[in-house]
Amino acid sequence: MGPHSLAQSGRSSPQSPPIEISANTQARIARTDREKLAQRINEHLETNAEEPIVGSVDNPFPLADQYGIKGVSVLSVFFHHLDMSAFTCHFCGDKRGTIDDALEHQRAARHYNE
Ligand SMILES: [Zn+2]
Repeated sequence: MGPHSLAQSGRSSPQSPPIEISANTQARIARTDREKLAQRINEHLETNAEEPIVGSVDNPFPLADQYGIKGVSVLSVFFHHLDMSAFTCHFCGDKRGTIDDALEHQRAARHYNE
């Protein structure tokens, strides 16, 4: 069992990233999804005072489970939460440090209400 395999050392294989392309496409699909979802949530909130909770059984927006934060209002669909330390508004880029602040921004700004 020789650990020296010289044949492989000098070769650089071309790094074509098909994964990145599909990730891009996925991101685009996600954006469309999110926007459609935002529209539906908007309509829902116009007639319902209660904000559905992501991941709960009576949440009428199962798609929100993908984009929102579990256990939090579906309004969490409206902001990005990459690492749960910053919450960036999907519409205006407003950045908050906590979920509550971010939700409050959504309720106050009502971007979704157009
Ligand atoms: Zn905003």
